[in-house]
Amino acid sequence: MYQIKLSRAALHEPVRGAWCRVCESCYVSRDGYLDHKGFVRDHTSDFKSLRQKNVDKQHLETSRLDKRLTKLTQVLTDPTAAEMLNVQQQSAASKLWPVNLNGLRNQRKLLEQTIVNWEDDAKVPNCPFCKQTFTNFSLRKHHCRLCGKVVCGDTRTGCSSEVGLNVNVNVGGGKTLTEKMGEVALDVRICRECNGVLFSKRDFMDEVARKPPDQKSYETMVEFEKGIITMLPRFQKLLATLQDSSRPPTPQQRSEASKTRKRLLDAFTQYDIAAKRIVNLPTDSPTQQQLQRSIYLYSVEFLQTHMFPLKALPKILKQTKSSKLGNGHHRGLGSPASIIDDSSSVVSSNPEVDAEEKLLKEQLAVLEEQKFLVGEMIASAKASRRFEEIGALAQSLGELEKEVEKVEGQIKDFEKRNPVW
Ligand SMILES: [Zn+2]
Ligand SMILES: [Zn+2]
Ligand SMILES: [Zn+2]
Repeated sequence: MYQIKLSRAALHEPVRGAWCRVCESCYVSRDGYLDHKGFVRDHTSDFKSLRQKNVDKQHLETSRLDKRLTKLTQVLTDPTAAEMLNVQQQSAASKLWPVNLNGLRNQRKLLEQTIVNWEDDAKVPNCPFCKQTFTNFSLRKHHCRLCGKVVCGDTRTGCSSEVGLNVNVNVGGGKTLTEKMGEVALDVRICRECNGVLFSKRDFMDEVARKPPDQKSYETMVEFEKGIITMLPRFQKLLATLQDSSRPPTPQQRSEASKTRKRLLDAFTQYDIAAKRIVNLPTDSPTQQQLQRSIYLYSVEFLQTHMFPLKALPKILKQTKSSKLGNGHHRGLGSPASIIDDSSSVVSSNPEVDAEEKLLKEQLAVLEEQKFLVGEMIASAKASRRFEEIGALAQSLGELEKEVEKVEGQIKDFEKRNPVW
């Protein structure tokens, strides 16, 4: 039984209509049936315009304090400002306070007060942030140098703090501007509120931009992986032309193949370095350890799968070379370029072969080390009767043993195919 709301004229009227019994076709053909999306009203622009007021206000506040701070540091590091103040204040100062040890502090205070009016100490019995009552000794009054408020300097509540700034100032002496500039360390007391306004956004942005080392290494790894994936088809195409028995490869083709191979090998090496960096990152978290190990195992797999075509090239180069040597009269006809290329490709492929073997042996060493570590972990898990861990560890050990066998087999193959020259 189907029911929809109908008007007096028997039209679909979902708001003011009365419930009526209808047939299926009327039910499904009404407006809005199967309309899953519903009505969409975009409030983003409304929200933005409302929010903009807050953003602007915040921005204004930040830039105002920023300007004050800049002015303050300029005044405090500029010797001429102090002198000017001295001249102005000398007559009054000599009457008001006698020259004493606090003279310098007073001078700085006067300079600081040119930036913002300081709140009257006497009117503030409690710290506005933590509400503690000020005393003459244990909880003294401080002034925020940016808003002038009286605040406490309690380090536990952090109502205000001395912010260390390195200010670039003109110290004179050098000839060029960069020589004249020097850094002066300056401590400025800033209240919690001003600190938040000034630095929280910057801190937040820094925090967002900061990448943990494992992520950085992983991104490098992924970059090299992409590079390898795009380079490989081109290399395989070159390889196919080299293997074409009906048309002997030109020297250019061979040198290009050799060059591409070199670049690929470099990429593989960088990839391997990044992967090793990840697996060797120190961590106490078992999850992180597992993650790093998995990434590394993946990288080993990737290297094993994709380095295979690279191994074919030295063989092909050798074959083409020996067949060339076989045809004695051909050799005389070879242009000087082809001879040079011949020797260079053989010479350059030699260290590459070594690098490949080295890479495999390094992989083996890392795997053996991991095997040892996992073995240790199993022993310690057994000793402390953490049986649920042993299962997972034993599985890892099995995987590692398989990997070790695989790499060992590859090294043997490799040595067979590339005997020591
Ligand atoms: Zn009907
Ligand atoms: Zn306080
Ligand atoms: Zn303040």
